[in-house]
Amino acid sequence: MELWYTEEHTPNVRFSIKVKEQVLSVKSPFQQIDVFDSEEFGRFFTLDGAIMLTQHDEFIYHEMIAHVPIATCPAVRSVLVIGGGDGGTVREVARYRTVESIDLVDIDKMVVDVCREHLPFTARGLEDGRVRLHFEDGLKYIRRFTDFYDLIIVDSTDPFGPGEGLFTSEFYGNCFKALTERGILVNQHENPYYANYSHAMRRAHARIKEFFPICRVYQAHIPTYPSGHWLFGFASKKTDPIADMDAAAWNALGIGTRYYNTDLHAGSFMLPNYVKEQL
Ligand code: SAM
Repeated sequence: MELWYTEEHTPNVRFSIKVKEQVLSVKSPFQQIDVFDSEEFGRFFTLDGAIMLTQHDEFIYHEMIAHVPIATCPAVRSVLVIGGGDGGTVREVARYRTVESIDLVDIDKMVVDVCREHLPFTARGLEDGRVRLHFEDGLKYIRRFTDFYDLIIVDSTDPFGPGEGLFTSEFYGNCFKALTERGILVNQHENPYYANYSHAMRRAHARIKEFFPICRVYQAHIPTYPSGHWLFGFASKKTDPIADMDAAAWNALGIGTRYYNTDLHAGSFMLPNYVKEQL
């Protein structure tokens, strides 16, 4: 008997992965957490039915969400990751010895516990000595900080359910306040293709632009995310993601990556016309 995991991307589009085994199915106080093994993508986990990451393609998302901002501003010392309880983003940030502190704020401790047990390839990032874990709503956490973080990465679920507050003007305004003068905000920015996601992306981008003088969008191709065309927001107080990125300096660090490189860094900000029109 064949078993398939199916995610609804729109009422008319579904994405299915053949499953070898369902490893876990639990409900936290915030969301349904399921873990599977598959032929094509290895181990993967979902929250409320949406794929969060798969073993075989998570490198794309986690490299792009972490290396683009830090290659742009190597002086980053204090980092805040909101969401990201699987540890993949933290794993990539922790590759920079110059980073001194990494606060991870995830509303759901059960996600961290499940990923530590079943997805060690990303959760191992959480074991770095510079990581401090906080289990609370990122919307509330960020209110407590002024001029404190050099980099804030919002690696959240989509803008409904627990993640909804992380796409509000209040949240982006507090991120601006919490960032230092060289501060950068990067966020997972949904996809430009399907109407429901595109609407969320446009709304988030307009809200970020209310606060940040530099507000750009870059892209990556992620096979298991809706439409495969995924966007990231890049906002900063004064750092330009292309003009200020020193490719030779980043390459001299010798950080081996499977997706990110400094050519792709610049290219990822060159968006298709239909996406530029949305912004
Ligand atoms: N890369 C994935 C994506 O793009 O959809 C996100 C992965 S990560 C697992 C998403 C995390 O955001 C979850 O662990 C969830 O618990 C967390 N989260 C959702 N809403 C949150 C909130 N308001 N504050 C902090 N964490 C939140």
